[in-house]
Amino acid sequence: MLMGDPGRADLAALALGVASPASEGAQAPRHVPIKAISLAVAQKCNLGCTYCYAQQGTFGGAAKDMPPDTAKAAIDHLLREAKRGDVFTLGFMGGEPLINRATLHSSTRYAAAQAMVRGVGIGFSLTTNATLVNADDIALYQQYGFTLTVSVDGLQVTHDRLRPHRSGKGSFEKLARNLNKLFSVEPRHFRVLARVTVTPSNLDLPQTMAGLLELGFDAIMFSPMLSAPSGKEEMHSEELDALLDQLIACGRVFREALKEGRIVPFTNLLTTLQRIHRYEREEYPCGAGGGYMGVSATGGLYACHRFVDDADGLMGDVFKGVDAELQATWLEERNLERQSPCTDCWARHLCSGSCHYEVIKRGRPACDYIRGWLTYCLALYVELAREQPDMLKAILAKR
Ligand code: SF4
Ligand code: SF4
Repeated sequence: MLMGDPGRADLAALALGVASPASEGAQAPRHVPIKAISLAVAQKCNLGCTYCYAQQGTFGGAAKDMPPDTAKAAIDHLLREAKRGDVFTLGFMGGEPLINRATLHSSTRYAAAQAMVRGVGIGFSLTTNATLVNADDIALYQQYGFTLTVSVDGLQVTHDRLRPHRSGKGSFEKLARNLNKLFSVEPRHFRVLARVTVTPSNLDLPQTMAGLLELGFDAIMFSPMLSAPSGKEEMHSEELDALLDQLIACGRVFREALKEGRIVPFTNLLTTLQRIHRYEREEYPCGAGGGYMGVSATGGLYACHRFVDDADGLMGDVFKGVDAELQATWLEERNLERQSPCTDCWARHLCSGSCHYEVIKRGRPACDYIRGWLTYCLALYVELAREQPDMLKAILAKR
């Protein structure tokens, strides 16, 4: 109750030296130009993680690959409204995208060539389980400066339990072998980030953070499992309380390192401090359904990668384009000012209402956790501004 008191907004605003927002009644946009898409190049996977949002990659339907022509149509759609100097992002997701290596490689080259012709920038990202990497893939990441997000759920024993092959055999050994290949590229022009899905059975975050950074990852991010199609491994209130304690324990590790002049690449904390500093009072938690969309293997356009083949997030298709009415309705309905109970929450302009997918599928079970984390980060921001302003500046400049 205390945490949800709108009066706390004024306290937080005072601590930050900014005024409390008053944007109620603002009009939702009807159209936002697309700046990023992710392609579900393979709606299939070689692993069998029980909680997978993509239901082992198939999103509940038949396994399929995206043909190269569909990927080209998606890229043409992405760059359709491009103006010289714009910057775009092309992401590859699945399932496991490397199962459809041919489309991944050909569409990266096509997108880079098209971007050059139009005088725009383009960045590439790939979310992968990193069990299928080969030398050609590494050359592609190197040439195009990819950002790889590797799904890894802990150190060997935990990861093998949560992310087995379909046969039941653990996948950590293969992952570790491939990580070695990735980390040994010198000089390396691509980044490799660890993304840990946190479930009730891998809540030992400080040990996980230390172990994975030791392996060589450039940064680590924890993301709680709030909504799994199977319902398995979802976090409930007690576990979310434990998660908050664990994240704060990682925060203490981060704080101690800062005193020695080191920045631990703990993304949850870095991005929250940056968000607090910018305080942009965003009306949406992410670009889904606006500047960002997910593309299914057959060319359907969806609000994001998690809505692939889901009517709740349908936005059109890459051949005919975005359905203007569907997008306008989404932007209106998902706007922060239409979200209850967000309108009365002090954290609304930092949280922006939470992931649309999770809210639509499960509601808002994690608000106390979100506000608890923001409270910790606000206090740390103020402490750093007072005690280590140069380190805070370095944190804000980190990407
Ligand atoms: S989703 Fe975010 S803004 Fe909305 S009530 Fe929960 S914590 Fe507050
Ligand atoms: S809706 Fe959720 S999963 Fe989709 S982009 Fe937004 S935060 Fe991410």
